[in-house]
Amino acid sequence: KILPADPVLENSRRQVANACFSYVNPKQTSKPQLMHVSPEMLKNLGISEKDAKSTDFLNIFTGNKVLQNTKPYAMCYGGHQFGNWAGQLGDGRAINLCEVEHDSKNWQLQLKGAGETPYSRTADGLAVLRSSIREYLCSEAMFHLGVPTTRALSLALSGDNVMRDIMYDGNPAYEKGAIVCRAAESFLRFGSYEIFASRQDEATLRTLVDYTIKQHFSHLGKPSKGTYIQFFKEVSERTLKMIIHWQRVGFVHGVMNTDNMSILGLTIDYGPYGWLEGYDYGWTPNTTDRQHKRYRYGNQPNIGLWNLLQLANALYPLIDEAEPLEAILNQYKTDFESGSLSMMRSKLGLQNEHENDQKMIQDLEDILHLTETDMTIFFRNLSRFKKENPSEGIKIIRDAFYKPDEIVGNIETRWDDWFNRYAERLQLESLSNYERQKEMNDVNPKYVLRNYMAQLAIDSADKAEYGLIDELFQILKKPYDEQPEYEKWFAKRPEWARHKVGCSM
Ligand code: AMP
Ligand code: MG
Ligand code: MG
Repeated sequence: KILPADPVLENSRRQVANACFSYVNPKQTSKPQLMHVSPEMLKNLGISEKDAKSTDFLNIFTGNKVLQNTKPYAMCYGGHQFGNWAGQLGDGRAINLCEVEHDSKNWQLQLKGAGETPYSRTADGLAVLRSSIREYLCSEAMFHLGVPTTRALSLALSGDNVMRDIMYDGNPAYEKGAIVCRAAESFLRFGSYEIFASRQDEATLRTLVDYTIKQHFSHLGKPSKGTYIQFFKEVSERTLKMIIHWQRVGFVHGVMNTDNMSILGLTIDYGPYGWLEGYDYGWTPNTTDRQHKRYRYGNQPNIGLWNLLQLANALYPLIDEAEPLEAILNQYKTDFESGSLSMMRSKLGLQNEHENDQKMIQDLEDILHLTETDMTIFFRNLSRFKKENPSEGIKIIRDAFYKPDEIVGNIETRWDDWFNRYAERLQLESLSNYERQKEMNDVNPKYVLRNYMAQLAIDSADKAEYGLIDELFQILKKPYDEQPEYEKWFAKRPEWARHKVGCSM
């Protein structure tokens, strides 16, 4: 059993000691309205389409009704934010409703934007339309891309206004409030463990780790020192696997604080995330991180390791031995090298291993950085490359260049050279051009949630038009398929969207 904070529904903002969560009911909303429901998630949870249209469904998933025999709660956690220990954070605007078991899977259902909790600190516990649309669409899109992630069941308007900004005249600016129901096997984060270690509360730490192993890592066996080490090993492996998927599809999380790192290796907390347009290791969508760019695309694997080190420190009191933890962290580095190399091989359609692959991939990445080149379009179109025709390489990928006029002289030569090497390398493979294209199209998505696409859906939803949310939802269900009717979404970012980025609050 893990301990709740208070036996009564006490909801003052405070430091919550010796407890993993606090009971708290969602806030009543004034005029809730569903904008979208995920049919796949309904199925996963065993909810019929008919029930999803009921008033009960609406009320439960916007916080107006608490299911019988359930006790909603908010979780206590801490975290390292941008490299510094930030103390207690916790579910400041997320409330866990209940757990559903269906088809031998367990789902926690959680409302995001459902009102204040003991962990709300100075904020209001609410979420706005734009951030909710972004979370809803992106988490389902990530699932269909094959990236481990939390899911989303529903997207609703609360009917209440939420204050987010003070205008230049000193008056507050309001935005529409919204609520997403998220679903995952667990929402535990690295910070869930760090908080107890930081308070030297070893008893609660052990209770939570034992609970985690029993509920989510039961294949590791009964809790013991050895099991704790295996637990950390598996968290490390899952984290790396998730991040290599991010690198593959060009997803930049934007705020990889340890409170946003799932213990199950799921992508969690879709805030200021963004998708690479130009292939750029230095890019971050997070405007508050533009100076140090801690969470830039190319740094995500390193940050994963740094975050795991914080988790190792938190688990250390239960293990009391540094060596096995260090060995796991070192293994992460080795696995990253081999894992990212094989991921890049798959993006290039290479099935065999060759000693020069690393160098050829490194050179490709260097050339991709020379001029702004759209990552998604580049890799998708590369699948049309014919190994007998290297001189056509540039033509095939030309659509990926944001400034095609710059592909002259030295840059053009470097591309041609690279395509020649790629063609030679492909001669060592047994797949035909056609077979290779099929393989490549299974790892290089055609459709991702480009930042401007989410923005267009937000702009129309703001005018109470929800068709675009559904259109994007439908396309992103089959990101690897050719969908000729949606070809317009397989396009470079339009110029007006160049400096637009996502927002988290
Ligand atoms: P994030 O950067 O989104 O991961 O959030 C960091 C912390 O701030 C978490 O503890 C969140 O629950 C909390 N938080 C973010 N937005 C709000 C809000 N509007 N109201 C209350 N807490 C919030
Ligand atoms: Mg968070
Ligand atoms: Mg957030």
